[in-house]
Amino acid sequence: MLANTVYLTSHNRIDQPELDMSNVLTRIFIDTLVLSGSLLAETDREKEFVIWLAQHDQYAMGNGTVSFSLDEMPWEPNHFKENKFFMLRMIEQALQGAGWERLSYTPIDKDIRYALTAFRELILLFGKDDIDTNHYKYWRTMEEDDSSHTISKGYPKCDKHEVYLSCFGCVLCNGET
Ligand SMILES: [Zn+2]
Repeated sequence: MLANTVYLTSHNRIDQPELDMSNVLTRIFIDTLVLSGSLLAETDREKEFVIWLAQHDQYAMGNGTVSFSLDEMPWEPNHFKENKFFMLRMIEQALQGAGWERLSYTPIDKDIRYALTAFRELILLFGKDDIDTNHYKYWRTMEEDDSSHTISKGYPKCDKHEVYLSCFGCVLCNGET
């Protein structure tokens, strides 16, 4: 596959608004959100939102394999407003170029602006009733092997890029190799 899609929910994908991105744009989308999210995250769950996005690492997973639906994200039904506010701030900071000086490339402004703006529209459309907490439960219990858990204890960050590490390491370092 040559592209990735962000869907509103996992169900009835036909006729839903969606965000289609080339593999290159997907990389920039994930990189910029992980940068801004890592600057903003304070609570454990906010850090997990960033790590969840960082796992959509095409260098580890393969190009065109990181499509996702918003209901797969680590939403908390009891803190949905706060979660959504965090995501909107993350997108806003990414639109303002937060942390871009740590990128090894210069994003094409028009393209990343399009992707982040469309993502913000999807986040605004996503409702509390759309949350499926089974995704989070599954994600937290997933273990690749005995030593590599989905989320490392203490939420370590990359020394060079100051972003949270996923089970694949630093998404920015991986992209530079
Ligand atoms: Zn790094």
